[in-house]
Amino acid sequence: MLDDTRNFFNFVDKKILNLGQISAMDKKIEENINFIPLKSPISWDEYFMLQAMIASFRSKDPATKVGSVFVDKNNHQITMGYNGFVAGIDETQLSWSKDKTQPLEFQKYGYVVHSEANAILHSTRSLEGSKAYVTHFPCNECAKLISSSKVSEVIYLSDKHRNSETNKIAKKIFDLSGVKYRQLDLDKETLSKLSLHLHHMLTEI
Ligand SMILES: [Zn+2]
Repeated sequence: MLDDTRNFFNFVDKKILNLGQISAMDKKIEENINFIPLKSPISWDEYFMLQAMIASFRSKDPATKVGSVFVDKNNHQITMGYNGFVAGIDETQLSWSKDKTQPLEFQKYGYVVHSEANAILHSTRSLEGSKAYVTHFPCNECAKLISSSKVSEVIYLSDKHRNSETNKIAKKIFDLSGVKYRQLDLDKETLSKLSLHLHHMLTEI
């Protein structure tokens, strides 16, 4: 955004000499305007992480909403997922409880499919060489699936379970199988710009 603004002011400050016809000057102005390099307000990383965040918003889990989006090398989305109960199951018979003092049968953990697992299960294409955008660093079970699917890189937003055993195992799986991983610092200014954009669209209707 700053670059675009700077380019614009550089252009405004520029003197365009008119040494001929008005039409020649118009042409010069047009050429200069077309020369201003315009950039998308968001990067691919931000774009796909926002998609993963939107996917997480679909989750019914009241405690932890997780989303993921898998993307090919041309930046085309292959598949997406969010955490939810087993597809097609009668959810009225299940609880979202996290209470580990209860038998597993009465905890959500017995029935929830993680976002990465859902995305991989529902993919109709090979995920080999793809990038996975995830709102939360994957657990070891999802890391097994991601690595086995030959995903090349995992980009994550939150690593809040970084001290857990499953997190450490997941990193070990990625390290041993050559899956790269990095955290994305999503700029809050990007969210403000997106919010303004969406608000503007709604007011245009
Ligand atoms: Zn998982």
